[in-house]
Amino acid sequence: MKALIEVKGIYKNFDLKGHENTTVLEDINFEVKEGEFLAILGPSGSGKSTLLRIIAGLVPASQGTVTYLGNSIQGVNPGVAMVFQSFALFPWLTVLENVMLGLEVKKMAEAEKRDKALKVIDIIGLDGFENAYPKELSGGMRQRVGIGRALVSDPDVLLMDEPFSALDVLTAENLRRDLLELWLDRKIPTKSIILVTHGIEEAVYMADRAVILSTGPAKIVEDIIVDIPRWRDKKASEFTVLVD
Ligand code: ADP
Ligand code: MG
Repeated sequence: MKALIEVKGIYKNFDLKGHENTTVLEDINFEVKEGEFLAILGPSGSGKSTLLRIIAGLVPASQGTVTYLGNSIQGVNPGVAMVFQSFALFPWLTVLENVMLGLEVKKMAEAEKRDKALKVIDIIGLDGFENAYPKELSGGMRQRVGIGRALVSDPDVLLMDEPFSALDVLTAENLRRDLLELWLDRKIPTKSIILVTHGIEEAVYMADRAVILSTGPAKIVEDIIVDIPRWRDKKASEFTVLVD
């Protein structure tokens, strides 16, 4: 399968308090192929969010390049959309309006944007909540809106920055399972996913492959295939339902 995103020799330095020009990311190299669900694992403060923002083109790298379909990105990466840890919804906008924001830069008629957003709202399980405001929703539903806003533009690669970490345990579990099912059933209009997490269990449950970062500065210490027969697990659970 072809590489959608290539991360080549990325370095990032920051002026941290009392430590000028500290290297946070050091020589990060990996690629994301079409169809892959990749987890980026690392401890808190290791540079995961920074790396994801560099891939999205929201933050410039100090050195190195990110390519999308073989072309190095200048500014915002046109092939990705991002889901944030803290949802980043606009409280004064409805669910529908928040999701439609994901289409803001697209040249589409307003009615077409609306239709597209409504379809995505249905896929992510928020049918009937189009006109609700974020404050009327639970945390899990808010993050579904965040996911919807990212998916509505049909990005080739969905970037998720610890999307479940602000949720309580059960809500996080539900959302992980629903998202994984949608992904495995090919109902999510995206070709690949990069999930940033500090949870090994989460990475193993959801991803096909995991890149593991060390700290101070972050380097890739492992790039492993997660070999769990999820398809068979899924079929087994469907079989149980049939027997019941
Ligand atoms: P993670 O997401 O793995 O917790 P981050 O990417 O948020 O890690 O941060 C990695 C390091 O870079 C931390 O030491 C953080 O303080 C620092 N950092 C992140 N963003 C900035 C910034 N805009 N300016 C200065 N330092 C930053
Ligand atoms: Mg982070």
